[in-house]
Parts: sequence; structure tokens; C-alpha cells
Amino acid sequence: GRTVVIVGAGMAGVQTAVALREQGWDGTIRLLGAEPHEPYDRPPLSKAVLLGKAEGSAFAVDFGSLAIDLRLGVEATGLRADEHLLETTGGPLPYDVLVIATGADPVSLPGSAGLPDVHVLRTLDDAERLRPVLAGQHDVVAVGAGWIGAEFATAAREAGCRVTVVEAADRPLAGAMPAEVAAHMTDWYAQAGARLLTGTGVAAVEPGAVVLADGTRLPADAVVVGIGARPATGWLAGSGVALAKDGSVATDDRLRTSLPDVYAVGDCSSFPSARYGERLLVHHWDNALQGPRTVAENIVHGPDEAPVYDPVPYFWSEQFGRFVQYAGHHAAADEMVWRGDPDGAAWTVCWLRSGVLVALLAVGRPRDLAQGRRLIEQGAVLDREKAVDASVPLKTA
Ligand code: FAD
Repeated sequence: GRTVVIVGAGMAGVQTAVALREQGWDGTIRLLGAEPHEPYDRPPLSKAVLLGKAEGSAFAVDFGSLAIDLRLGVEATGLRADEHLLETTGGPLPYDVLVIATGADPVSLPGSAGLPDVHVLRTLDDAERLRPVLAGQHDVVAVGAGWIGAEFATAAREAGCRVTVVEAADRPLAGAMPAEVAAHMTDWYAQAGARLLTGTGVAAVEPGAVVLADGTRLPADAVVVGIGARPATGWLAGSGVALAKDGSVATDDRLRTSLPDVYAVGDCSSFPSARYGERLLVHHWDNALQGPRTVAENIVHGPDEAPVYDPVPYFWSEQFGRFVQYAGHHAAADEMVWRGDPDGAAWTVCWLRSGVLVALLAVGRPRDLAQGRRLIEQGAVLDREKAVDASVPLKTA
């Protein structure tokens, strides 16, 4: 029979293996993971696992009964595509079809390499190293007020730590949200008892302290760096696989790479979205769930029978006691329509392009999110007058 080799045993790799069996693939499936742990889910790492409320977050997948050959602690180091051969730390592996699902690596703080109290939060090992820091109710400094920084600050406050978040931009979530929206999220930090310092960079990390660009010294028993993640594609150098400028594997709309019989999916890759008219690199869980279905259908049924990939991206974040959800993709030029009081507990922002709903952010309004997501999929035109009234269901606006 034919063999599919999947590189990376995170959400995207595991879901690809499972989806292949669901679609009826009866050949060999080998799933390689660099980490030694049973494959696990990442979102709980900055939530329940970090707080010690959950031991771990292993996927409930029985690899044995699905005849998935799971090889842990094995890293792919290179690809010889003309020979259909993957190079790994466990020796070369032949494949008929290869799926790249190596995820992303956190960006580290320049000059902090090797410092014992500087952490990132990407893996189960990272979370386990951070647990005693939280349990010890220390002074912690988070660098970066993005999704991870906000979730870490939430957990650290809940654990009773003194928390300062340092952000180089003038507001939280600067890469994801416009200033008008982020303005209403800034207060969340103070309300939770965390200090947020914006517009300031880190000059140096010293034992027990973080020194800011203006000379301020912040006491820090531990530093957590959340300044983004980059596709883990360095091992593909020289393989001939085409990468986009951001380092992601550049796929087509069936998640095929530039090399024959090689697919890529999840945080490591980007795809062209006809819906949004641009190439999207999505670093969220739902993309690592949906993308694998497209990959499996294309592998099993071939491109004539299988769908293209053009999802409405979706993600959620739990921060400062709020459930924050976003669907779609907006651009700076899109028009914003507000539902509800953005200084209150629950509100929504819709983004319209020529009247059509293209994205929405819902804070504590899961029904808006669910209805909005469907409206985006349908390309529905929203009536602004009705949409601003938070008491009118979005689907009837
Ligand atoms: P990964 O999960 O990164 O898995 C890739 C795997 O490949 C890793 O295990 C890695 O060790 C392995 N690997 C890498 N290189 C190699 C190699 N050369 N050989 C073999 N194996 C290799 N998203 C949301 O939507 N909502 C959330 O609330 C949310 N919370 C998050 C919290 C945290 C702390 C983190 C880190 C992420 C969170 N995300 C969240 C994002 C979501 O978890 C990711 O989008 C998702 O994990 C991507 O899955 P993936 O399989 O593509 O990559």
C-alpha cells in the first residue's frame, strides 16, 4: 500500500491522520513528532494547565486502533523530494505523500538566550516550567500584550502573582485590532490588577529584573515572552519547497505545496483565500482542525472530487474573565459597526466591506459570533441601522 508521512504531531498533524482514516485511507500512516509527549492540545496550556487545574491536555485519540504509526521524539531534518525521502533524526523515511504540519516556534527576546528565568509559552514543557512560578506568587513580567501575553497575565493574576505587561506598541493587540477597538481592552489589565506599560521596549533582562528602554527597572522573578511565533520551516531549507516571505510554506487552495505529493497545513503554512483576496497565515486552533480535512480529502479522493480550502477563520481567547471571539478577516479600510457598549461586559464589533459582513469580534456575545460567522460565510449584506441595536439578533439585521 501507499504511505502518508505526516511531520509534526500537534493539532494539525493529528487531525490529518484521523481525517485520512475517516476518509477511508487504508495505506500506512506515519505520524512524527519532535516532542517526547503524547500529542496534546495547546490552548489549555495558557489556561487550565498553567494554573494546575488540569494535569495535561492529551488528545483523546487512540492511535493504535486507528493503525497510526506514531513516532515520538523524532525530528525531520531535511527533505529530498526527488527521491520522495524525508530525512529524520531516526534515519531516512520514504513517503508516497508527505504532509508538513510542524507548527510555529515562539519568537525569543533578543539577548535573552540561555537566561534561566526567561520563558516562552508554546509547549507542555514550557507550561510545566511556569507552573511553580505561578504557584510561588512571584513578581512576573510579561513581554508583549498579544493573545498569549493577555492569557498569561490572566492566569498569573488568578494565581496571585504581581504582574506587569510590557508592550512596545501603544496598545494591546496592536497587530490584530485597530486602535478604536484596543482602546476598550486596555482597561481590562488594570481591572484584573495587572500593570500594562505600553510604548516601551525592553533594554535588558538582568537577574531578578527587567530594564526598560527609559531605564526603569521592574522586579522580575520570571519573564514570559509573548511576542509572536514564526512558522517552523527552517528544516526545509534547500528542499525546494516554496516559502512565503513570512517563512510559511506557501500552499495552493488545496493546501498542496510547490513540490509534488507534498501538502502543508496548520500554523506552518499559508493559503490563498479567494474569499478575502489575499494569502492568509492563520495561527489559530480552528485552522488546524479544518485544514486537515481538506488535505485528507485531496489525498484520498484527488483534486477533482475534493473541495478547495477557503474557510472563514475563527478563534477565541479567554482573558481577564472575558470570552473573546473573532471570525473572518478585516482590513484597515473596512467599516466598523458597534453593537452594545464597548465599556460594558458584552459588546460586538462588525466589519463591513461594501455593506457585506467580512469579520466580527464578539466579547461575551457568543450568539453574535455564531450568527455572524454564518452570515460571513453567506456573504450577507448587513443593515447598519439594525446591526447597531444589540437587542436585535444579528441574523435578522
Ligand atoms: P503545533 O501545535 O505547533 O504543532 C506542531 C508540532 O510539530 C509540535 O509538536 C512540534 O514539536 C512538531 N515539530 C516541529 N518541527 C518538527 C520537525 N522538524 N520534526 C518533527 N516534529 C516537529 N488558538 C485559538 O484559536 N484559541 C486559543 O485560545 C489558543 N490558545 C493558545 C494557547 C497557547 C499557549 C498556544 C501556544 C497556542 C494557542 N492557540 C490558540 C493556537 C493553537 O494552539 C495553534 O494554532 C495550533 O496548536 C496549531 O497547530 P499545529 O499542529 O499547526 O502546530
